Amino acid sequence: MAWVKMFKKPGGGLKKSYQPGSMLSLALTKGLLNEPGQNSCFLNSAVQVLWQLDIFRRSLRQLSGHFCLGDACIFCALKSIFSQFQQSRERVLPSDSLRNALAETFKDEQRFQLGLMDDAAECFENILERIHLHIVSDTASDACSSKSCITHQKFAMMLYEQFVCRCCGASSDPHPFTELVHYVSTTALCQQVDRIMGKNERLRSDMFGELLQAANNTGDLRSCPSNCGQSIKIRRVLMNCPEIVTIGFVWDAEQSDLTDDVIRSLAPRLNLSGLFNRVTDENAKRSELHLVGMICFSSKHYSAFAYHTKSSKWMFFDDATVKEVRNYIPTSRGHCFLQFDRHKIPDVVLPQHSVK
Ligand SMILES: [Zn+2]
Ligand SMILES: [Zn+2]
Ligand SMILES: [Zn+2]
Repeated sequence: MAWVKMFKKPGGGLKKSYQPGSMLSLALTKGLLNEPGQNSCFLNSAVQVLWQLDIFRRSLRQLSGHFCLGDACIFCALKSIFSQFQQSRERVLPSDSLRNALAETFKDEQRFQLGLMDDAAECFENILERIHLHIVSDTASDACSSKSCITHQKFAMMLYEQFVCRCCGASSDPHPFTELVHYVSTTALCQQVDRIMGKNERLRSDMFGELLQAANNTGDLRSCPSNCGQSIKIRRVLMNCPEIVTIGFVWDAEQSDLTDDVIRSLAPRLNLSGLFNRVTDENAKRSELHLVGMICFSSKHYSAFAYHTKSSKWMFFDDATVKEVRNYIPTSRGHCFLQFDRHKIPDVVLPQHSVK
């Protein structure tokens, strides 16, 4: 297990932590049950980061009308957990209703079935996709422009990709698509880190977006569409300004020795103009997003970290266990997943160094 040190900004923190009311707001952080054999840690982690995302929590609260699927309704199950987070006096709640709805909804695909472990990033992504379907009831999610669709209004990255030849100017047809999670290979990311270290350059935290972009473009070479003989790279262009950006790390092996390098490359801020080849939206060009959540996988188990806005604290969620993060934030091998918010400035910076 690797650990990353977190530190607070000079002058920040102490006074804020003892504001009256912060105990009350911390009481709103609750654990989620995971009984032996349930294997619900992937779902519990996804629910905790969703609940801690202010934009998501508030938007969901305002929605009531939806296409309901009764017992298999993910929308109702999520609403019910959220209202218990807010109203229940228990410190730990069951997530069974959502677990059941998810299993029922995906039974044909044999995904997220009861008792079986699954992938937290894909669970998160599928919950968002289902919310779109419950609100808009339209399977063409790439073109969704519904103002009430939290999924596409807040989380979607609207992109197109295109091959353009720098030599002769020929280009492929632009291919538009929508992403809820931007997946990046850790192997490719570490190659980019090595490339920078190889040039004896310092790894700066403001390079994080560019590193992710370079990693994402690695290997995407094609020969020029007009056959001029050049091999050309793919270009990904962002057309909107998402409120929340989610990065999913893909690990090539369950046991990876890249953990330290990946942790070293992480940064608490992300510029969208670094993450993509081009950004067309003016707000997106200017916006800097701040790390507000993270899901980690270690020893076949998921846990989550999330920034709790009201108390300005980072919290650690491991099923029933909820802890305030004071000094260290453990990271892990496996799928690590980061979430960036356009409006939040957490009072914590990450990571300084890692210790095995
Ligand atoms: Zn419903
Ligand atoms: Zn939608
Ligand atoms: Zn060409």
